[in-house]
Amino acid sequence: MRLVILGPQGAGKGTQSARIVEKYDIPVIATGDMFRWAISHENEVGQEARDYVRRGRLVPDELTIEIVRGRLSQDDASDGFLLDGFPRTLAQAEALDVILEERGQALDAALAIEVPEEVSLRRLLGRRVCSNCGRNYHLDSPPQDNWTCDRCGGKVERRADDDEEATIRERLKNYHDSTEPLKSYYEERDTLRVIPGEGTMDEVFDRIVAAL
Ligand code: ADP
Ligand code: ZN
Repeated sequence: MRLVILGPQGAGKGTQSARIVEKYDIPVIATGDMFRWAISHENEVGQEARDYVRRGRLVPDELTIEIVRGRLSQDDASDGFLLDGFPRTLAQAEALDVILEERGQALDAALAIEVPEEVSLRRLLGRRVCSNCGRNYHLDSPPQDNWTCDRCGGKVERRADDDEEATIRERLKNYHDSTEPLKSYYEERDTLRVIPGEGTMDEVFDRIVAAL
């Protein structure tokens, strides 16, 4: 299964992605995680991406496409994948199609999780993330033991780019301006599956499975 998941920040994409890849046994490729990893390891990609990520701006297409191309060429992605956070621009969507065409492959579906902007803003402001394994929590549903991850014991904290409302608004604006238009791109190709993102995680996941 070759999938893309679109949705504004705070739509619950990360949570749903984790469930999808478990059910369909495919790797998740999350460009945001790849950039954060590169930044913390201070490698070349990290140095180029750092300022954009910190400000909530989009990393330039050329660099982003290059890292996705490299990741898709690894063995574990040959039979399927879920792309989370990519594509985010029309140029990235077109590049993805070219990459897949080169291998005689195509996307099975582009899932678009939809939630109203106030909902995503509220979720983002309260979001807390395990600094070790990436699991998401929320002020309203913290880990059991004093901000220590239930899964791995890591420290659960605010992600650096969730810190300021201005950065969050910038990311939501980017989504609206650059990524939202991708829905019509996938609609034209008959791969778009719109998923209402409100309700419990289970309800949203059931909608995804039904759509696939
Ligand atoms: P969020 O969806 O909450 O913004 P991500 O982890 O997906 O978080 O992305 C974090 C940051 O990484 C983005 O704000 C942006 O700077 C950068 N980034 C991730 N994916 C892309 C992409 N496809 N194109 C450009 N920049 C990206
Ligand atoms: Zn953890």
